[in-house]
Amino acid sequence: MENDIVSALENGELQLYVQPKVDMRDGRVIGGEALVRWKHPEKGLVPPREFIPVLEKNGFIINVDEYIWEKVFAYLGKLHREDRMLVPVSINVSRLHAYDEKLAETLTIEITESIQLQGNDNFMDIFNCWRDAGIEISIDDFGTGYSTMNMLKNQTLDEIKIDREFIRDLEKDKSRIIIRNTIAMLQQLGVHIVIEGVETEEQKSFLLGCGCTDAQGFLFHRPMP
Ligand code: C2E
Ligand code: CA
Ligand code: CA
Repeated sequence: MENDIVSALENGELQLYVQPKVDMRDGRVIGGEALVRWKHPEKGLVPPREFIPVLEKNGFIINVDEYIWEKVFAYLGKLHREDRMLVPVSINVSRLHAYDEKLAETLTIEITESIQLQGNDNFMDIFNCWRDAGIEISIDDFGTGYSTMNMLKNQTLDEIKIDREFIRDLEKDKSRIIIRNTIAMLQQLGVHIVIEGVETEEQKSFLLGCGCTDAQGFLFHRPMP
């Protein structure tokens, strides 16, 4: 896989997909997330969870991320030139980019909480640097294992994406209490919330009942080329 991925980039086998984010009240598209797809000539579509970890180990994720970002910039530029509707498109930023201070494009960047584990105060400085450059910071996969409470206290964040694991088991009283109160807490802190992985009407109506309107999930749109 390590060998294949280098030629994959050169041969144009890596493609940009975008999954829309919607306002669940009316289905309006309010944004999107850029996601990489690998169309392998023999193996077919290889899911990111199979190759991203390999790339994060050997460092090549830096190249792949930048390739995807460029595709996003080109796509937004094209929409802009054609006078079409523009919404913010988030790009994923691997933790390996965390030390790169040159990132300065006006896009929302999603950073997985785990980069914090590298335990470096630098991140706060880098975040502030990015925010000054007009980039919105979004914390990905909120609610999955890594503590974010300190970050919520100390850092201005624009967006938090609540992981889809979080909105499973809605039939359990305890799950509903946790979700409802987490949403309330984040809203009181003034953070914009996006719920990921909404697949059912039950999830949608429960979340709307909690006052959360913005979501990304197969119920609305799958990632598309
Ligand atoms: P992520 O950043 O949390 O991306 C959201 C994932 O959830 C996507 O999987 C998306 O297809 C999936 N998803 C969205 N709605 C639903 C739903 O309703 N149900 C279900 N079951 N899944 C849903 P995908 O595209 O397979 O990406 C997996 C992970 O790979 C991403 O998780 C992200 O961590 C990583 N990734 C993908 N593209 C890139 C990239 O360009 N750069 C980097 N660094 N990581 C990427
Ligand atoms: Ca993401
Ligand atoms: Ca996520």
